[in-house]
Amino acid sequence: MNYSFTHNFAAQADAEDPLHKYRNQFFFPQHKGNPVVYFTGNSLGLQPKKAKEIVLEELEDWAKFGVEGHTEARRPWLPYHEFFTEKLAKVVGAHPTEVVAMNGLTANLHFLMVSFFRPQGKRTKILCEGKAFPSDQYALKSQLRFHGLDPKEHLIEITPDPETELIEDDRVVAAIDEHRDELALVMLGGVNYYTGQWFDMARITDAAKRAGAKMGWDLAHAAGNVPLELHKWGVDFAAWCGYKYLNSGPGGVSGVYIHEQYHGQKDIPRFEGWWGHNKENRFTMPKEFEPIPTAEAWQLSNAPVLSMAPLLASLDLFEEAGFAALRQKSLNLTGYLAFVIEQLAQSTGVALKVITPLAAQRRGAQLSVVIPNKGKAIFNTLTAEGVIADWREPDVIRMAPVPLYNSYEDIYRFGKILEKALNA
Ligand SMILES: *Cc1c(COP(=O)(O)O)cnc(C)c1O
Repeated sequence: MNYSFTHNFAAQADAEDPLHKYRNQFFFPQHKGNPVVYFTGNSLGLQPKKAKEIVLEELEDWAKFGVEGHTEARRPWLPYHEFFTEKLAKVVGAHPTEVVAMNGLTANLHFLMVSFFRPQGKRTKILCEGKAFPSDQYALKSQLRFHGLDPKEHLIEITPDPETELIEDDRVVAAIDEHRDELALVMLGGVNYYTGQWFDMARITDAAKRAGAKMGWDLAHAAGNVPLELHKWGVDFAAWCGYKYLNSGPGGVSGVYIHEQYHGQKDIPRFEGWWGHNKENRFTMPKEFEPIPTAEAWQLSNAPVLSMAPLLASLDLFEEAGFAALRQKSLNLTGYLAFVIEQLAQSTGVALKVITPLAAQRRGAQLSVVIPNKGKAIFNTLTAEGVIADWREPDVIRMAPVPLYNSYEDIYRFGKILEKALNA
């Protein structure tokens, strides 16, 4: 695209955007009678207008059928999680049997590590990114302690380069090679929550596998954002949350992926529950656990229907819009944001610095931008003018234009507000 920081350009780009119509499928918070500039879809996706209808349908069916809704509801509750499988499989590039929607993200990371972090002999260590999302750090460290291992010795953290704040793929691969005999697990965020850096997941997965370690990905900031091929890459396991780019609503259900090579095993270490048991005889309450021969074997409980329902509305929109088209728009839209920031750095003389790598294969929708000196004051002005973005101490603002509902005009409006704030 030939960008220009003018209203004409933004209006024209929206007019020519075949996905622009999906904006109208979402509710936008309002600021002084206008929709806010919403750049936090990486934190909590907006509400699809259809979500309420689907939740109300479940409430109606509950009123109408009581317990019989498990089989009689228009979307029967017994197999409710199955309504997500095909669609989520497409989002992460997996076979439908490899995916299931359940629990919350951190809970799932723990359940998956029960199966896939099995320290043995010299292989006792976990390799992860330094400054990982706090919940992931807590999960990894507590898993180590659970196995009687001291995190100080057994958690290898690859610290970000102090200049760029990034963790180059080369360094991850080199660290895997260096520790190849002692690694039990490599676990990273596919897209780093702070910098927006998208790792070369195929390459890192390959390196981890060759080293004889298991590879797990936290896809909180990747699912619904960047193209994924988990099965093809040979990833062992992954988990993500539903409420960021996938718009399932606050605390919405997480998804997991488990490579098919691990399915149908009775002796795999796993915390088990009745919803992982063979569907044919689950209700005869047999004593012996018989795993469903898919990722569903890792389910514990029956599906939280009311909280899962909104995700159906969102995944339908993903299907309809098409992931390839969304990704193309995402590259263009975030490219436009990078362009506007560059223009403003030049015109105002403020040394704005984008820390997110800009190459298409290294980023998704998010840009993290350092605003030197008066960053917090500028962020507060943005908020007061109706921009919802995310502030990280000491000086970074994170913004994620989402291709399903953000527009070029959003970015133009944001640019004008930022320009005023920088010049003030
Ligand atoms: C958002 C996010 C989480 C959130 O965890 P929950 O269990 O859903 O509360 C965890 N890890 C990463 C990397 C995240 O970005």
